[in-house]
Order: sequence, then structure tokens, then C-alpha cells
Amino acid sequence: MGEDDGMHIVVLAGGIGGGRFLAGVRAFARQTGAEVTAVVNVGDDVTLHGLRICPDLDSVMYTLGGGADPERGWGRRDETWTVREELAAYQAEPSWFGLGDRDIATHLIRTTMLNAGYPLSAVTAALCVRWQPGVRLLPATDDRMETHVVVEQDAGREGGPAGAGERAIHFQEWWVRHHARLPARRFVFVGAESAKPAEGVLDALAGADVVLLAPSNPVVSIAPILAVPGLREALTAGRAPVVGVSPIIGSAPVRGMADKCLATIGVECSARGVAAMYGARSAGGLLDGWLVDTADAGVHVDGLPVRAVPLWMTDEAATAAMTRAALELAGVLR
Ligand code: GDP
Ligand code: CA
Repeated sequence: MGEDDGMHIVVLAGGIGGGRFLAGVRAFARQTGAEVTAVVNVGDDVTLHGLRICPDLDSVMYTLGGGADPERGWGRRDETWTVREELAAYQAEPSWFGLGDRDIATHLIRTTMLNAGYPLSAVTAALCVRWQPGVRLLPATDDRMETHVVVEQDAGREGGPAGAGERAIHFQEWWVRHHARLPARRFVFVGAESAKPAEGVLDALAGADVVLLAPSNPVVSIAPILAVPGLREALTAGRAPVVGVSPIIGSAPVRGMADKCLATIGVECSARGVAAMYGARSAGGLLDGWLVDTADAGVHVDGLPVRAVPLWMTDEAATAAMTRAALELAGVLR
């Protein structure tokens, strides 16, 4: 931390949990003059009806920009659904993904800019001119990288016999269409091998005073960010301490279906299980600190400083207090 400039906080984040957490980080940063960069998951991204959709980037952008629907948590407030009705009248598939009219404007601009050759990072910056999220939003990668879910061959197919084979479906089909109910064998981050960190990501990590892992889904939000070659290395080799915030309280994923994802990769759905998945830096992993809820006080992970504070992101003040606790644990607050 320089003497003249404020602290630089980098946050790795998924969509809804990531957006809520970032609202608290931003509130904290405004009090202290810190600068915030969010590196956001793109594994959920999908092309539907010719439109490029980035659910996590949009959830974060709308949440921080005041445009998110507060009940759904995703998509726009005051949304209307005329286009969806018209697509249904054509029996256009897929019909299971909710594309609202207001939301579609975002996807039209994004798709047009991507087709014109702009990288996703530049497109995101352009969209943020309108939303003014108060945080720099970067996709983890500008390259195409999508999470697919390997399921049994005939799972979810009507009338199909149980087969021994398997097939991969897009994460959105598994999550939104099947509500994560199809037994999953594994997750594959398609395109990860040849992906590079997006423009600005490595510079942000190099300039970070602290890196926080948002309480996002560890398996399908944080892991795909870390799967971009060079990104994990930049964290482990960097000088900035890395502190994670548990997305699990007790044995429950607070909202969402992280338990299904953790079960698939054989990780216990607990604050301890997720910490062990990320690993302590002292044991070759990622973390210098792990923040758990007071319900999980007493959780012990070898070689990892753990602190218990309330982790319910009920409002911005509560989430800003989580941020302060994470930075204290990181040792970057005086
Ligand atoms: P998504 O990409 O929209 O699914 O959202 P994220 O991956 O960013 O976050 C989803 C995860 O946030 C869920 O799986 C929960 O485990 C976690 N979560 C949601 N609300 C809270 C909360 O209030 N406190 C904590 N600690 N975790 C939460
Ligand atoms: Ca997501």
C-alpha cells in the first residue's frame, strides 16, 4: 500500500453472491478511499437466439448499478417479457432461459460489439459507462470458456433408458433447465486450456494489496476463474494476501445449489470442506485466511488462520463489515 494512494482490493466473484458481496466491498472502499477490481466468472456465458449472454457479469453489473431485480436476484428490475412470449409463439428453443426485454438490450449491444471484434473486457467497460458500478469489472478471460456438466447419457431425456454412456450439457441447461437435479459426474471448463487472463487481470493482481474470494459458488463460479492458465499462479506467486469468505454457513449453501456442485466433486458442504478445497498457502494452496460465519466458529483447517464473524449478506452495512473483517484477517488494515 503506497502512502499517497489508497488500498487496491481485487475480488474474485460469481454472479448473485458475488454482486452482493461487492456491494459491501464498495461501501467499505468508499469509506476508506480504496480502489476495487472484480474479476468475474465467465463459465456461465452462453449464446442463445444469437445473443451472447454473460449471466455473472450482468448480475454484478446490474446489482452494483442499481438495476437488478431485488427478488429474483438476476436480471433487470421492472422487467417485461414480450420477446419471450413471442419466441414461445414460434416454439423457439430453448424456452427455459428467461430473457427479459430490458435485459435483451444489454445482450444486443454486447453481441454487436463482440462481432465487431472488441474483446469482452472492452465490451464490459462500455456497458459499465451506463451502469457506473463503482468497481472495475473484468471478465476472468476474454477468450471463450464455458462450463459444461457431464451427465449420464440418457439423464433428463424423456422415455430414454438408463445408459452407461455420458454426455456433456452446458452449465445453464443443467442449472436453469434441470435445477441441478440431473446427477452430474463432473464439470468441464471447455476452452480453459487455451484461455488467457483478460486484458487488465494480471496487472490488477500484480497491483493488489489484498485479494478476496467472494462467498460465491466455489465449484462453478470461483473454480472456473482459477482455471484460466496463469491466474492461479499470479495469486500464489503474488505479494498480496488472499482471504476467502465462506459461501457455506453450517452445512447449508445460503442461497442456491452449491451443495449439488460440491457433492459432484466430492467436497463436503461445509466451511471446512470449501477451505480445504481452496487450500492453505502454507500447504501449497491459495488461502492466507478464511472467514467463516459465527455458526462455524471453531472450524479448524491446518495452517490456515480462520476468523468467525456474521456472514449473512443481509444489507450493505453487514457486508461492508464482512469486508473489514476479511481485510483485518489479511493484515492489511492498520
Ligand atoms: P451465482 O453465480 O449467481 O450463482 O452467484 P455466486 O456464485 O456469486 O454466489 C452463489 C453462492 O453465494 C451460493 O452458492 C451461496 O453459497 C452464497 N451465498 C448467497 N448468499 C449468501 C450470504 O448471505 N452469505 C454467504 N456467506 N454466502 C452466501
Ligand atoms: Ca454464476
